[in-house]
Amino acid sequence: MIGIKNSALSLILDTEDKRMLEEIKLQFLGRSGKLTLAIKDITKVPVERRPEIGRLANEVKTTVEEAIQRKESALKSEASKTREKQIDVTIPGIKPTIGHIHPLTQVLWEVVDVFKTLGFQAADGPEIETDYYNFEALNIPKNHPARDTQQTLYLDTRESKTTPGEVILRTQTSAMQGRVMEKTKPPVRVIVPGKNFRYEQVDASHGFEFWQCEGFMVDKNVRLTDLFGTIDYLLKKLMGEKTEVKFATTNFPFVEPGVDTYIKCTVCKGAGCGFCKGSGWSEIMPAGMIHPNVLKTAGYDHKKVSGFAFAIGLSRLVTLRYEMKDLRLLTNPDLRILEQF
Ligand SMILES: [Zn+2]
Repeated sequence: MIGIKNSALSLILDTEDKRMLEEIKLQFLGRSGKLTLAIKDITKVPVERRPEIGRLANEVKTTVEEAIQRKESALKSEASKTREKQIDVTIPGIKPTIGHIHPLTQVLWEVVDVFKTLGFQAADGPEIETDYYNFEALNIPKNHPARDTQQTLYLDTRESKTTPGEVILRTQTSAMQGRVMEKTKPPVRVIVPGKNFRYEQVDASHGFEFWQCEGFMVDKNVRLTDLFGTIDYLLKKLMGEKTEVKFATTNFPFVEPGVDTYIKCTVCKGAGCGFCKGSGWSEIMPAGMIHPNVLKTAGYDHKKVSGFAFAIGLSRLVTLRYEMKDLRLLTNPDLRILEQF
């Protein structure tokens, strides 16, 4: 009886197959299984030993049955684990979404690249600026009417020692002219890309927060025609060789003479639309020859050197380049807009 138990248990332990286990079950517990027959044979044992042998036989039977049950459930859970592990390699995978550079940054990088080839260096300036660099150093003293054209956002400085109204969010990247010229002797060729802030009515072509790229050059004999050539070169590089550029005189306190640069509206191709306010031309950058007062304030000798300056409206340049009807789309978080670039 013990021999039968041992051989049954070792067979059960060794098997890793459900069908084999079934066979072992039959071999021992089936109608003519070894254990079944051994139990039947108890009748041949002398009467006085029968109870003892019977108990032993029952024990062996229970042990073997339990071992088979344990093995069955072990094999079952093994099988379900294997199913979980199985991977169907034919199912298409999930593609991770990859981001890309914002159109504004793309154009900004291109602008920087074009100016690099012309020998300009890029400088970075503070967005929180003082009234001095944003206005006074640019020939716009306090109470000058030109300040009205740049609705300024003032920082609350009540908790600090700063004079009220001295600290502002810069309204133009030109604020860096004074900072750079104070520290650098001519010749200088610098561009300053960055964000500006004005308290403006927001519409299709105006935002309260907008990107500019300031550029200026000071050297001996810098002339207005150098400015025209530089702007024309830049716009043709960025917008295509066929881009039509137009200059018109205008007035800014920090330049003399001042010019406004226009390109033919890419939205309506010159026919007139809401974006260009019906004129067919879109204003893209104010520019001009740096005013002698600005050079003097920075410590330059305005009789020996001259220079030009311009401020490219980057946000507007991007909308014109991609023929977008509304500047506000550039700061819209809807990915369906950005995914198109
Ligand atoms: Zn237009």
